[in-house]
Amino acid sequence: MTSKAHKKFLREDCYIAGEWRGGAEKLAVTNPANGDTIGHVPDFGRKEAKEAITAAAKVFPEWRAKTADERSKFCRSFYEALMDNQDALGELLTLEQGKPLAEAKGEIAYGAAFFKWFAEEAVRVYGDVIPSPWADKRIVVTKEPVGVVCSITPWNFPNAMIARKAAAALAAGCPIICKPASQTPYSALAMGVIADEIGLPKGVFSVITGEAAPIGDEFCENPAVAKITFTGSTGVGKMLAAKAMSNMKRVSMELGGNAPLIIFDDADLDRAVEGAIACKFRNAGQTCVCANRILVQSGVYDAFAEKFAKRVKELKVGDGLESGVEQGPLIEEKAVEKVEQHISDAVSKGAKVAAGGDRHKLGGTFFEPTVLTGVTPEMVIAKDETFGPVAPLFKFDSEEEAIQMANDTEFGLASYFYTNDLGRAWRVMEALQYGMVAVNEGILSTPVAPFGGVKDSGVGREGSKYGLEDYINVKYGLFGGLGK
Ligand code: ADP
Repeated sequence: MTSKAHKKFLREDCYIAGEWRGGAEKLAVTNPANGDTIGHVPDFGRKEAKEAITAAAKVFPEWRAKTADERSKFCRSFYEALMDNQDALGELLTLEQGKPLAEAKGEIAYGAAFFKWFAEEAVRVYGDVIPSPWADKRIVVTKEPVGVVCSITPWNFPNAMIARKAAAALAAGCPIICKPASQTPYSALAMGVIADEIGLPKGVFSVITGEAAPIGDEFCENPAVAKITFTGSTGVGKMLAAKAMSNMKRVSMELGGNAPLIIFDDADLDRAVEGAIACKFRNAGQTCVCANRILVQSGVYDAFAEKFAKRVKELKVGDGLESGVEQGPLIEEKAVEKVEQHISDAVSKGAKVAAGGDRHKLGGTFFEPTVLTGVTPEMVIAKDETFGPVAPLFKFDSEEEAIQMANDTEFGLASYFYTNDLGRAWRVMEALQYGMVAVNEGILSTPVAPFGGVKDSGVGREGSKYGLEDYINVKYGLFGGLGK
């Protein structure tokens, strides 16, 4: 059951240049738990994207001229408004995205924490004085906001993926225009409600919904845009990066993953089981840092598989708004079909189903939490991100083999491993070709640490002190003529 609290945030207009604007053409938004239409949003395109960019460019001088303390206070107000409305925003998020309410509220707190973090970082954007090689000259380095930022985000974290871009942009002094995924626009528009309420100057924060390609083209081609920040699939990210780079715009790309979770013979198995559950089944497996491959050393393979499958069978599947639900529906039918293809390919090549394996009896896009054993590197699931609730268990014998298997992918976002051997912990951490490595933990995201990948998982970092640098230009100032 939903309360009525979320209604205030369910806006069917876009927030562009500080105004709420409706459109003649509308896109329907559905609840993945039951297929009901929640509402509609405008089907805007290049024209409206251009208007948002023009407004952002106009307000940029005013926004960058604010003191760091003033921008910090806006970020702090954004944080407080998100937290004051955590329940309502969580409910709205579950309605459009499907994840369990507890996870949705957790995401609001996680997203809000980026505004708090960057409120604190906004006042610490220091420059440098560099020792000069000339007696009569001085060298300084100052930091400046890059300018107008355009963001494109996916449906799996409809609040947090925007929050970690917007908070850093605003703190650095950049206006931002957000294009959310068409499946989950309401959590983004809700952030427009908050931007309006806390009194951000018009044009500093806009949200535009509509067809992705024309809006993306305007973002990449408009000369007033300084930076494109994107979270989504590697295919779309590469295409956007190429377009943006051909116009010499800064880019941050947070793309797909193929995360390994390695369990060594010396691991604490109970801890590994809990970590693997959290890592794999959070958001029904629909995160870019979810374990996509679970690699288990031969000495503990059977014991781990048994304990893990037992726990997975206990996971409660249902509408995210029902209490106690641990796994909601998948976002759409296409996602279920991909899960089915990965399972049938694996089974046809010799894998065994140890838990789940089928569509859930609830119907729609609900799928049973699934464990596959006997999975090998030739199977599609070893290479392609499943983005669903399927845990494939691979077997390995040695540390070298585990590292080779883990790195055998074009992706390099998150990785995880369990061991109680300190030397191995350090060795494997260094050997994994990933932007992020968690040792003896299944969840690693936090606003205070740099989130991002290497290889085909993208460029740039979000969160932490490094996250702010992605929104800053360094300026070298040389002061000559100091000699008498
Ligand atoms: P996912 O598989 O998570 O939906 P996508 O990369 O398709 O990943 O989508 C992520 C975001 O990119 C969404 O906001 C989507 O609308 C947007 N997007 C998809 N195609 C394009 C495109 N051609 N140009 C710009 N944005 C796009």
